[in-house]
Amino acid sequence: MAESPCQACGACCSYSANWPRFTTESDTALDLIPEKFVNEGLSGMRCEGDRCAALSGKVGEMTSCQIYAVRPEVCRTCMPGDPECAMARRRHGLPALAVVPANAGTHTA
Ligand code: SF4
Ligand code: SF4
Repeated sequence: MAESPCQACGACCSYSANWPRFTTESDTALDLIPEKFVNEGLSGMRCEGDRCAALSGKVGEMTSCQIYAVRPEVCRTCMPGDPECAMARRRHGLPALAVVPANAGTHTA
């Protein structure tokens, strides 16, 4: 499988504390996210500044999501190359991705 551009990015996981919020997840799905990564209001991921607490690594170099298998829906819908991706990457001084790879799946940062 081709490596996702997200693995060398992580910009959208470090863009805004309002971004990795919970939306349509079931309680069962949310229960799988370790408490230490959930915010006080239980409305989304805990963030340190703009950065999601579950993001490890260095933005723009190498990153990974510590809860990848159980990450929120919003994290699954952000696709490499889409407008939100470009916006997040710009904030971090990274060039926009030219194309959305076919079957890119979801971002893996
Ligand atoms: S979706 Fe875009 S901004 Fe988010 S980690 Fe992937 S490449 Fe980076
Ligand atoms: S993909 Fe993971 S690290 Fe990124 S915002 Fe979502 S939960 Fe946080």
